[in-house]
Amino acid sequence: MCIFCKIVDGEIPSNKILESEEFLCFHDVNPRAPIHLLIIPKAHVEKFQDASSELMANITPFIQEVASKMGLNLSGYRLILNNGEDGGQEVPHLHFHLLGGTKLSWPHFSPKETHKSL
Ligand code: 5GP
Ligand code: ZN
Repeated sequence: MCIFCKIVDGEIPSNKILESEEFLCFHDVNPRAPIHLLIIPKAHVEKFQDASSELMANITPFIQEVASKMGLNLSGYRLILNNGEDGGQEVPHLHFHLLGGTKLSWPHFSPKETHKSL
């Protein structure tokens, strides 16, 4: 069972923000911003290419509710979905990162990594 499935089952404790029948939101254990939350489907889905359009449609109002609950609608926030190896996905269970609480820098890659044609 993957780490996030263990969190869903309560086998690994987490600091929960919001829960529905289908989704769970909790604090990232290693925050990269003043607010750094993870939003996951409770059912194990590994990658973005495995996600159904129904799941992606349903997760939208859940994320919106989280952002609203955290008071981030005015200040803004960033949603990130790291997918697969090049995307930097470490936990093989689909998740969004929701980052906020400060002005975030952009882009996430170093300029020397930028493709010549960009
Ligand atoms: P990824 O690199 O897969 O997009 O992000 C995985 C995230 O999960 C990382 O930001 C990491 O800090 C977080 N994480 C890994 N294990 C745990 C855990 O056991 N509990 C919580 N709350 N977050 C975790
Ligand atoms: Zn899982």
